[in-house]
Amino acid sequence: MNIRDSEVVSGLLRAMNCELITGSDTADVILFNTCSVRQHAEDKVWSELGRLSKRHSQSRAVGNTPYAKRNTKRPLIGVIGCMAQTYKDGIFRRAPVVDFVVGPSDIAKIPGIIKKLSTIDYRPSTQVIFERKLWETDGQTRPEEIYRNGFYEDENHAYVVISEGCSNFCSYCVVPYARGPLHNRAHKDILDEIRLALDKGIAAITLLGQNVNAYADKDVNFVTLIELVNSIKGLKEFSFVTSHPKDTSIELFKAMSKLDKLKKYLHLPVQSGSDRILKLMNRGYTTKDYLDLVENYRTIVKAGTLTTDIMVGFPSETKADFKDVYELVKKAQFDAAYIFKYSPRPHTHALQWPDDVPTQEKARRHRIILDLQREISRNKGIRKKVTQ
Ligand code: SF4
Repeated sequence: MNIRDSEVVSGLLRAMNCELITGSDTADVILFNTCSVRQHAEDKVWSELGRLSKRHSQSRAVGNTPYAKRNTKRPLIGVIGCMAQTYKDGIFRRAPVVDFVVGPSDIAKIPGIIKKLSTIDYRPSTQVIFERKLWETDGQTRPEEIYRNGFYEDENHAYVVISEGCSNFCSYCVVPYARGPLHNRAHKDILDEIRLALDKGIAAITLLGQNVNAYADKDVNFVTLIELVNSIKGLKEFSFVTSHPKDTSIELFKAMSKLDKLKKYLHLPVQSGSDRILKLMNRGYTTKDYLDLVENYRTIVKAGTLTTDIMVGFPSETKADFKDVYELVKKAQFDAAYIFKYSPRPHTHALQWPDDVPTQEKARRHRIILDLQREISRNKGIRKKVTQ
């Protein structure tokens, strides 16, 4: 989702004659499109902002006022995306080098903000004596036009957002707070965007959403949507991420098996193999429900690949709970699994519970599941690195 958001923002900036460059040394504007889903992702951004603060602090004029004059030679620095939404103007206190902060629902405003900040007259003769900070984090939904700027970094493949946000409120997850409630794009707009991408020579697409299976636009549900996408002339191949087990149905598997352009690939995050932990996570299914889905998927979607997400060390996860995770991974025989260690996230329900699985124990559980999954993948003949 963040890769696509970065493309959308790049497209908006290219439309105002900006050029996308790699590396930050000569940039006039540096944007951090951030992720809040794990502590580790945030730590990397804070440390990069610290590095930029050091680099630019000496070149900033100080003067005799309590405020620093802005050095117009240094780049404008913006933090956008989920951290922007999570910490809002608090980012300026922790990283004063940041000039603007923009949440995921406000990204359409970025060109205007850059224009405003780069045209402020900072000459000593003017009244502007301190740095100006701007933040936009109150937006509800994105204007549809932002998806029509037609910029895709990959010449052959495009990510197409079908829904934004999520209303599931899994107890560990910051997404409903950072990206807001589920909002579905109109199916006609999605199909138009795909046709636009095909006009640019793109042949493959990935439909994106935090929970694609919950998609609904009047009488078009997710199964109807993928049928419509499959019928688009010129499209060679498509796939979708991410699916939620509680919204995944036999109808979806039947559609997957018959749609010729749809990749036979399902990413179905299970998160835990313990029913007690799944309940605390507010996931809305049991391990039996999940394993039944896996069995149906394998029966209906012949030779379909299956991947998952697993989180170890959730608050109160005992050794018995962890054993259940191990057993589920053995039973499900995933092709690949993305394994994470729990970290408390702002605003979430789980924040109220003690993060009581020691760091070392989380690392041990992480390694055990990683080794197990590697062995399963190896036995299936999947040679490339498939877990993390
Ligand atoms: S389904 Fe749960 S884990 Fe996934 S984005 Fe929504 S709240 Fe987060």
